[in-house]
Amino acid sequence: MAENNDQRDIEKDLGERVGPMAEALEVLKAFADGFATTFKHLFRKPITEQYPEYKRPLPERTRARIILTRDPDGGERCVACYLCSAVCPVSCISMQSAEREDGRRYAAWFRINFGRCIYCGLCEEACPTSAIQLTPDFEICNKEILSLVYEKKDLLVDHGGKDKEYNFYQYAGVVTNVGGKGTHIQEEKPVNVKSNLP
Ligand code: SF4
Ligand code: SF4
Repeated sequence: MAENNDQRDIEKDLGERVGPMAEALEVLKAFADGFATTFKHLFRKPITEQYPEYKRPLPERTRARIILTRDPDGGERCVACYLCSAVCPVSCISMQSAEREDGRRYAAWFRINFGRCIYCGLCEEACPTSAIQLTPDFEICNKEILSLVYEKKDLLVDHGGKDKEYNFYQYAGVVTNVGGKGTHIQEEKPVNVKSNLP
């Protein structure tokens, strides 16, 4: 019994001495790793990019200036559904919807306040027509805060952006001279959204 107690005392004593030593070794190793990294970089040639003379190409999905794109047929993609405006966490998108004679909706005016935009990309995610898209162009800073309010004429471009071939009406259906939505060959009836209400 006395022998067992002695053995435990020795182990405890050893543990108390080895514990701080192991910790000290770990700290030293961390220091050595840090200095080794610094030392390695001392002999590397520095890379300096001369902005704005040199502009590093950014990935296509970089989130900066917002545009409103067009369908492959040249029509405005935005159908003024207000989804982007509803999802925007800082409420910086506003618009007014209007309807053409053929029933196609569009935005009579469309405004984004880039002074508030946080470039989160949620508007692009929410857009059913792929109209609103963020681009890699980040050079829109300006001291005049009001110049950061972009109107539709500043936002609308003449191409399809990232999604060149997408045409919302090919999926949503169209009203034609030979029939309404859901009456064409192999076309399903449009969903009655009110039927989904509780
Ligand atoms: S990127 Fe975000 S903050 Fe900017 S307009 Fe879109 S939803 Fe709003
Ligand atoms: S940009 Fe897209 S989400 Fe926003 S109103 Fe137009 S169609 Fe709807």
